[in-house]
Amino acid sequence: MRESFREGWCGPIAGRGRRCGEVSKRSGMRQESSDGVAIEVEDARTNNLRGVTCRFPHGRMTVVSGVSGSGKSSLAFDTVYAEGQRRYTETLSTYARQFLQEMQRPPVGALRRMLPALALRQGNPVSNARSTVATVTEVADHLQMLFARAGEVSCRLCGGAVSRTTVADARRWLEENVPGERVLLCGVLRPDGEEEVGPLLRQLAAEGYRRLVRGGEVVELDTVGAADALGWSRLVVVLDRLKVVAGEPRLAAALEAAFAFGEGVAEVVLWDRTGEGEPAVRRFDPRFTCTACGEPHPEPIPALFKPTAALGSCPVCDGYGRTVGIDPALVVPDPRRTLKEGAVVPLAVPSASRERTALRKMCERRGVPMDVPWLAMPVASRQLVMRGDGEWGGVRGMFRRLEEDRYKPQVRIFLARFRGYSECDACEGTGLGEHARVVRVGELHIGEVLTLRVSEVREWLGGLRLPADRERALAALCREIGSRLGFLEEAGVGYLTLNRASRTLSGGEMHRVLLATSIGRTLTDTCYVLDEPTAGLHPHDTARLITLVERLRDLGNTVVIVEHDPDVLGRADHVIELGPEGGDRGGELLYEGPPGGLRGTDTPSGEMLRSRGALAGGRVAASLPRLTVRHACLHNLKDVEASFPHGMLSVVTGVSGSGKSTLVHDVLFRKLMEARGQQSSEALGPAVVDGDAFDEVVLVDQGAISRSTRSCALTFSGAYTPIRELFAETAEARQSGLKPGAFSFNTAGGRCERCEGLGVVTVEMHFMADVEIPCDVCDGRRFKDHVLRARWNGRSIADVFGMTVDEAQRFFGDRPNIVRRLEPLSRVGLGYLRLGQSTSQLSGGEGQRLKLASYVGGSGGGRHVFLFDEPTVGLHMRDVVRLVGALRLLTDAGHTVIVVEHNLDFVAACDWVVDLGPGAGPDGGSVVYEGEVGGLAECPGSRTGVHLRGMLQGGVA
Ligand SMILES: [Zn+2]
Ligand SMILES: [Zn+2]
Ligand SMILES: [Zn+2]
Repeated sequence: MRESFREGWCGPIAGRGRRCGEVSKRSGMRQESSDGVAIEVEDARTNNLRGVTCRFPHGRMTVVSGVSGSGKSSLAFDTVYAEGQRRYTETLSTYARQFLQEMQRPPVGALRRMLPALALRQGNPVSNARSTVATVTEVADHLQMLFARAGEVSCRLCGGAVSRTTVADARRWLEENVPGERVLLCGVLRPDGEEEVGPLLRQLAAEGYRRLVRGGEVVELDTVGAADALGWSRLVVVLDRLKVVAGEPRLAAALEAAFAFGEGVAEVVLWDRTGEGEPAVRRFDPRFTCTACGEPHPEPIPALFKPTAALGSCPVCDGYGRTVGIDPALVVPDPRRTLKEGAVVPLAVPSASRERTALRKMCERRGVPMDVPWLAMPVASRQLVMRGDGEWGGVRGMFRRLEEDRYKPQVRIFLARFRGYSECDACEGTGLGEHARVVRVGELHIGEVLTLRVSEVREWLGGLRLPADRERALAALCREIGSRLGFLEEAGVGYLTLNRASRTLSGGEMHRVLLATSIGRTLTDTCYVLDEPTAGLHPHDTARLITLVERLRDLGNTVVIVEHDPDVLGRADHVIELGPEGGDRGGELLYEGPPGGLRGTDTPSGEMLRSRGALAGGRVAASLPRLTVRHACLHNLKDVEASFPHGMLSVVTGVSGSGKSTLVHDVLFRKLMEARGQQSSEALGPAVVDGDAFDEVVLVDQGAISRSTRSCALTFSGAYTPIRELFAETAEARQSGLKPGAFSFNTAGGRCERCEGLGVVTVEMHFMADVEIPCDVCDGRRFKDHVLRARWNGRSIADVFGMTVDEAQRFFGDRPNIVRRLEPLSRVGLGYLRLGQSTSQLSGGEGQRLKLASYVGGSGGGRHVFLFDEPTVGLHMRDVVRLVGALRLLTDAGHTVIVVEHNLDFVAACDWVVDLGPGAGPDGGSVVYEGEVGGLAECPGSRTGVHLRGMLQGGVA
């Protein structure tokens, strides 16, 4: 086993060089993907794969395509990547090796010339609250280095320049400022206490020192009695007397001696500057201190700029940048109100009448308007209300006083109403200590740099003037940071701020951040397996993203992409298509070769390439009544007004970061809910929505379904109950007295208790993603043996969990109460899902379609508004057709459907479109087009329109 993989191993550890050489020799001949070195997969049988034999050429980009459920992930992730990870783990450490017998080899005949593999999956794996865009991309580490090396420090007390003085610096100062003058060069000693002074003086005399400086005069050491010196706290010892002459070697030697003496500073008494008072003294400190007031500062080393390091973190919030306190959004929930109307809720409660009076007096005193909406009040006035003005303590003062009465239950309840996270005052939300925030590069401290967008940081970096003496080293560091930021921009996420918390990124954004990071690391000879990198990306950004993936390949990596996007397919070096259907009717190799050949085949992808835009043709919607949102101003939205015809299929488009989700999710949905009496905890701005015509509002977003491992397609469909009853009626079940509950994997009784009915157990890998392995007690079958013996038409309950939705419909064909519940799943394109598939493993798109299925099955009466967020993610074009069909069932029943989407085929099939943009972040947030879909392709200012026109005219771009 070990020998055979050594042979095919081309990792960073063994065998490097030979194969990379071969790859680069061939780099000019990318078209010929059928020969040369490749990962060779022979007879792969993972999941539904039916003995697939194919190749993934080294140093090339291979796209694995096929309809949903055809086995793409089984081949790319569960076979190629799983084997790469298994072999790589084996070379890592003994710690990893103890799990190896548990990490199963994928069922594959042979897998040759494997490379160490890295996978970038969909979904956002980050849950660490401290992980940010800057830390994930390692830009944080490089910025910390830059600030440590190039930062200018100003004193935290007096603002003076803080620096370290070298011997050369001190000598240059003396030669330039007091040339030819007489000076005394002194070192400084600090006795530990009164009784120390006597012994110290004796020791100095014994070592040959003769004079001290005391009160501006030179004192002979042997004239000082121990009694005179009792109170002395510092001894300034004369080390040398000389005239400042350029190039005098004694000057440097004496400075050196002073730095090595006692306290480590040099005091130079400028003897000729005596005048009438004491002679002037110049202090030179080789340590990091303020040149004006002498306050010492810590060395600016990288750890000083890390909020997670003890040295760098803010002591108040421990580096989190926020503290538990009063949440401003809860204190002023509706910023459209004025102070008179009770904008500040805690001041508006009946028991706060004394505070209200104080507020009114403060407003008169300070000229704070009480009849202007909070939203429109100057920041300074708002701060006066919150922080007070000295005479009155403001809202915060009120809360401080209430804190003292916490023992009263009603006070605790009152405080809890407004409790939340708020920005840490001490560090202004940066999480950094004071010493880090006095270090600046190009006018900004590192905390300020981290609040900028990726694109703004690049500008800041470009405008830096680096200190001349370290310019070359620093320029290299800046280039490194600049190139990493550049990759982020190319990946289409230049609108993110560096301090954006990773866990708040969408799955697609996280994927692209990780992709950009991989390229920044410049690993070579690695096999990258990517899961739909274009998911959730506007066609405008897709082109840039493919360029980025190509760069990853050109660094000498092998790239395997699971993807449906026709534009990505068109730019692959090598294409593998699996199919023809999903589940048991898929898993066959339909095509392998260059992308050009795919178009001529009758495979699903070949058909898709020939017939793009076939879905086009919406309905006439312009004359219908509409659901309208006005004055949407949240985040980057610029007072947007948009409307959606009742009972129609509408789509909101625009490049990533243009404000689509903000409009649909944050404003439209929350405002509709607010109108139904559900108060939002966050401030939504002044938007107005007229949604009175609807009975219910349904949001189906990326997190639409439970991520619990205890929920699966079968439990979700509602067919589990009739199936359990069916099994309880079988002869075997009645014999052993099994009730329907015995066939449930969610309650103890019939299920395997080792895995608690899940069929798998999770092994924590600490340094990698957790690994799930089949349960060794039930062998993945979830139930105890006597339960599995109960069979209906020859199949056990475990066999049912293994069926796809389509198979189960055929199997239970004569049981309408079961089929009726399964049918909606295939109508939304999920016929390929296995009934036992945990919903925690579904993509965001699959989750939404599953949720959609529950409404397609019959949503009762009434008129609903449905809001979807990129439901096509993970769908093959053929299934996009099905999805549109399922959404049409909703509109045909009179419901209004609004979808955020990028998929052009989907957009073309809708009735109405609202296109936001034109760009991302601050360049977006306006309505570029609103109307029937046909008009979008003609709209010159719309980036979506340009791509839609391209697709309708010519298929693959
Ligand atoms: Zn100072
Ligand atoms: Zn803080
Ligand atoms: Zn088990």
